[in-house]
Amino acid sequence: MAEVVKYGVILDEPFFSYLEENVQGLNARDTDVLTHAIARSCEMKAYVVEQDEFETTGLRAILNYGHTFAHAYEALTGYGELLHGEAVSVGMVHASRLAEKLGRIDPKVTERQVKLLSALHLPVSLPHPERVAVDDVLSRMQLDKKTIGGQLRFILPTKIGHVETVKDVPVEQVREVLEEAGLK
Ligand SMILES: [Zn+2]
Repeated sequence: MAEVVKYGVILDEPFFSYLEENVQGLNARDTDVLTHAIARSCEMKAYVVEQDEFETTGLRAILNYGHTFAHAYEALTGYGELLHGEAVSVGMVHASRLAEKLGRIDPKVTERQVKLLSALHLPVSLPHPERVAVDDVLSRMQLDKKTIGGQLRFILPTKIGHVETVKDVPVEQVREVLEEAGLK
């Protein structure tokens, strides 16, 4: 479900609204609602992969929204502690907070994601942030395949329904997001 929400944030505001309006159906695993949510997500994934089959245009990178944070959290909390989708859920919230910090979005854009993810019973913060070191997350991010030459690169929202690749993100601003999230 975190990946489904991701598609709304990266490409499709009306789909995001649909998810907001159908939280009950999603949580009840209503067949019609789930079928639509999954079909629309698959359509968007197919569209992105088709448009950028050989990863040349950069479009495909938008699928990694939330994943730079998520990959670090999965690795540093010990695999199994956080499911991939849970890590992505927290990662999207933190990426969105980073976009706020960079002055790219209004806090309301993050709050809308927090509200939807929470309503779907997904975590919006790490279960034990104090057990994860800020410096370890930053080193992991620099090892991540999405960073080039050690510079931090993130997929960040400009609004619900659109994201951009942002290069050369200052490490200090990532550090602030992590510290505010309670990491040690
Ligand atoms: Zn994923």
